[in-house]
Amino acid sequence: MTEDSPANPRKIIHVDMDAFYASVEQRDDPSLRGKPLAVGGSAKRGVVAAASYEARKFGVKSAMPGVTARRRCPKLLFVKPRFEVYRAVSRQLHEIFARYTELIEPLSLDEAYLDVTADTAGIGSATGIAEAIRRNIRDELHLTASAGVSYNKFIAKVASDQNKPDGVLVVRPGEGADFVASLPARRFYGVGPRTAERMSALGIHTGADIRAQTLSFLEQHFGKSAHYLYQASRGEDYRSVRPDRERKSIGGERTYSQDLLLDEDLRTALEHIIDIVWERIEKNKTLGRTVTLKVKYADFQQITRARSVSPPVETRADFERISRGLLEALLPVAKGVRLLGLTLSALEAPLGASIDDPEGVAEAGPVQESLAF
Ligand SMILES: [Mg+2]
Repeated sequence: MTEDSPANPRKIIHVDMDAFYASVEQRDDPSLRGKPLAVGGSAKRGVVAAASYEARKFGVKSAMPGVTARRRCPKLLFVKPRFEVYRAVSRQLHEIFARYTELIEPLSLDEAYLDVTADTAGIGSATGIAEAIRRNIRDELHLTASAGVSYNKFIAKVASDQNKPDGVLVVRPGEGADFVASLPARRFYGVGPRTAERMSALGIHTGADIRAQTLSFLEQHFGKSAHYLYQASRGEDYRSVRPDRERKSIGGERTYSQDLLLDEDLRTALEHIIDIVWERIEKNKTLGRTVTLKVKYADFQQITRARSVSPPVETRADFERISRGLLEALLPVAKGVRLLGLTLSALEAPLGASIDDPEGVAEAGPVQESLAF
């Protein structure tokens, strides 16, 4: 497999809108500008989906309960999310990206990787392309974006976060290893809160700490992620930009060797599926609005029952409540059940999170072009 040579590195840009939902609200309603703003949640209940920079100064963050947010910032304004508007802006954003490359991998409504190695628009440098995109976004959408420019996805993504808001950071080949050395371990791709805790218990806190471990030590403790961590801690990441692989739904199902007939057995089976699916939802850091229960009976008749909620399902408790409600409405069943499944769809990624697939750690192909950074 050909890897990027130092003379021929890939050019990746990670573009990330600044406080996306909140910025769109402030753009569309001048009375909200310059004010601490939370999108989603309320002073009494719910969870903040996004916070404006004015609110972040008070420590208000996404995924924080509205009650806590209001306590931290008594003047905090709450507005309802308008996902249709965010989706429309996201489509405009995609159109801007498409002027510069076909290789666009959306991570969420407001975030994407672009492989601009081929420089199809003839801009001349990757940094120039990033600046052109940011200028287009400012002029046409009246919003700001930050960008990371680098030779791989991992570093480009971390870099885009470094000079936020409205900033750019370029990390050239040769600078990547130093760049990731001081990075907290939890910033590494695939390291969720649980893995970060396990790392911490092993004395691994930074990129440099990961790099100090042998591959076999990493394999012993982090299994499938070991190889990736080993490379990433050296500034290497060979995942290629995969166009348009945004997920539409997340789900899971189980077929039973014996048909289930009793309420209690069905409830227990459902709890197991909730476990499986919720773990996937968490891993993908995804919010979704529609929960669908699928039931296949012993005679192979299949039915689905769905419920959509607004704001999206944010906690396991919400997901459990809706899922159980869908099942309870079908009880008692008149015939045995051979399959149960749950799906979360109408997905929204919370700000700063990714709809991504850990299976996406793949070797990238050879690079033909050589574009300046
Ligand atoms: Mg963003």
